[in-house]
Amino acid sequence: MYLMDGKETAKKVRAEVKEEVKLLQHKPHLLVIWVGNDLASQTYVQSKEKACNSVGIEATTLHLSEDTSQRELIQTIQEANENPHIHAILVQMPLPNHLDEKEIINAIDPRKDVDGLHPVNQGKLMLQMPGIIPATPKGIMRLIDNYCIDLTGKKVIVIGRSMLVGKPLSILMLQRSATVTMAHSKTKNLHELTKDMDVIVSAVGKPKLITADMVKEGAIVIDVGINRVLGTIVGDVDYLSVANKTSRITPVPGGVGPMTIACLLENVVECYKLLKND
Ligand code: NAD
Repeated sequence: MYLMDGKETAKKVRAEVKEEVKLLQHKPHLLVIWVGNDLASQTYVQSKEKACNSVGIEATTLHLSEDTSQRELIQTIQEANENPHIHAILVQMPLPNHLDEKEIINAIDPRKDVDGLHPVNQGKLMLQMPGIIPATPKGIMRLIDNYCIDLTGKKVIVIGRSMLVGKPLSILMLQRSATVTMAHSKTKNLHELTKDMDVIVSAVGKPKLITADMVKEGAIVIDVGINRVLGTIVGDVDYLSVANKTSRITPVPGGVGPMTIACLLENVVECYKLLKND
């Protein structure tokens, strides 16, 4: 078993971003909009800000109260769309239940949509046109490339079908000529499906979802899950039992997480460039 080290790979990406930022006329500026008081979100928002600062990107967090209305939030986004000093906008998810996530995302200028969730960017991804690709699937592809893994003809299962991870990742892997199976909460016999796979990606959020008996000898396992168990962070994969059967595996922490942050930084720079080219 060999680790796919996200921490080391992310360092390289971040160093590249830092160099690129130095060459830009202005500092790219990310606005993070955080609504409510979700504690996990607070940690994510802070780590994004810190990461931005470490590569010379300016980051501002706008913390709005839990009872912010749909109209107020959309108005805030529209102001940020029009503000020439803001190049990228990230609305931290999850939003409080009374807010309509899809409508909120739709309000972001697609050129400033750093998470790549706007229908324009999701459509461009589908059509293989240049656009903003969500940071987690982008980061996973960068990790795969860093370890020179050729997906052509490989049987891949992507477990989880969110717009942020599972769906875009399956499209990216399909574009690399993998034979992609998508699994989700209604999939029957997941145990049987995974046994035959060359690559297993789990993006669900359930500790120990993937156990050793589900993994073929020599498979590659990519663990996207982030779960808090007894004060520690674990993935979806029962790492201790699964790792020995794999040819490559991503650890949690230190796998997909750092790649997500690094590719988010890359996306901020991409947004900046998109606006400057207009
Ligand atoms: P989500 O809740 O939007 O999606 C979860 C998906 O899992 C759904 O599509 C659902 O159908 C599927 N699912 C639920 N139970 C299942 C089961 N028993 N079997 C098969 N599929 C099942 O979540 P998300 O935003 O896609 O995130 C998924 C996980 O990845 C979470 O743990 C999240 O914290 C983590 N995550 C990690 C990173 C990172 O950088 N490492 C980034 C984004 C998300």
